[in-house]
Amino acid sequence: MNREYKKSRVARRLTICLAGLLACLLFSGCDYSWRDLWSRDNPKPNDELVVEKGDGEGEGDVIFQGAVEYTGQPHSGTDIYYVGKGERKNYIIVIDPGHQLRANTDLEPIGPGSDITKMKVAGGAQSAAGLTEYDLNLSVSLMLRDILIQRGYSVVMIRETNEVDISNAERAQIANKYNAAAFIRVHANANTDTSIRGVQVLCQSPDNPFPCNKTYAESRLLSELMLDEYCNATDLRRLSIIEDDTMAGINFSNVPTAIVEMGFLSNEAESRSMETAFFRRNAAEGMANGIDAFISEIAEESETHTSDTDTQFSTIDKMAE
Ligand SMILES: [Zn+2]
Repeated sequence: MNREYKKSRVARRLTICLAGLLACLLFSGCDYSWRDLWSRDNPKPNDELVVEKGDGEGEGDVIFQGAVEYTGQPHSGTDIYYVGKGERKNYIIVIDPGHQLRANTDLEPIGPGSDITKMKVAGGAQSAAGLTEYDLNLSVSLMLRDILIQRGYSVVMIRETNEVDISNAERAQIANKYNAAAFIRVHANANTDTSIRGVQVLCQSPDNPFPCNKTYAESRLLSELMLDEYCNATDLRRLSIIEDDTMAGINFSNVPTAIVEMGFLSNEAESRSMETAFFRRNAAEGMANGIDAFISEIAEESETHTSDTDTQFSTIDKMAE
């Protein structure tokens, strides 16, 4: 994170604060909340101004895909593809809002060909005040979607409602299907020790026994950048990157993957923050900044090493260390 960038962020926040104040002064009764300012500045993709539902031929069209074929059973959800309009439209970012309304306790292998199995989708965490992880994850993911579309990326949403049934392995298969430039899995944490707070980002280890081993360097770099930018934007405590080889949503992925654990729902102060639209907007912006930083790195790499994949990987690996 360079200082110029931090300065410009501070300047931008100040400008937004002043604009908010001005809006309150201009409109009698001060009817505009942060959420209103946010949604007016960032129209939802279903607004005609940004994208239209279409046949997929036009830029910005939303394409509703059918169920994804998978080695197990097809899921009952749909993946939703927003075709980008900007310079970065060729980079498809797949966003996975973690969990869903109901857990699916059927089992699936934790990786391709593995004998070890795990529940298809766990129920997710919940705060003492009743904030559910699946709701929070979706809310932040929808904001992230809007920011990425505004920045010109193509975006695939694994879900836009809570009423789906999509296993973790299937979610990774969707990212593979689109050959995602980055697969971002949005989660929140919980611990029996309620004093624990802060942010963790998960990816595979260099010793991962599944094919996702090949994308370790990129996933690690993506995770580092996501952690840095997310913590800068939210001011939450930076815990660490965790390398974990037990997650089907990582092990089935062939693309750069990061699980962002946005904070601890089990911690009172952190869960209260996560209830607010203000926090969620910063969280989404932080993740978008992390994605921007990652795409800039890989774009630079592919410019300097267009024909030498091995060199690309070793260079990225060094940068990640
Ligand atoms: Zn989770």
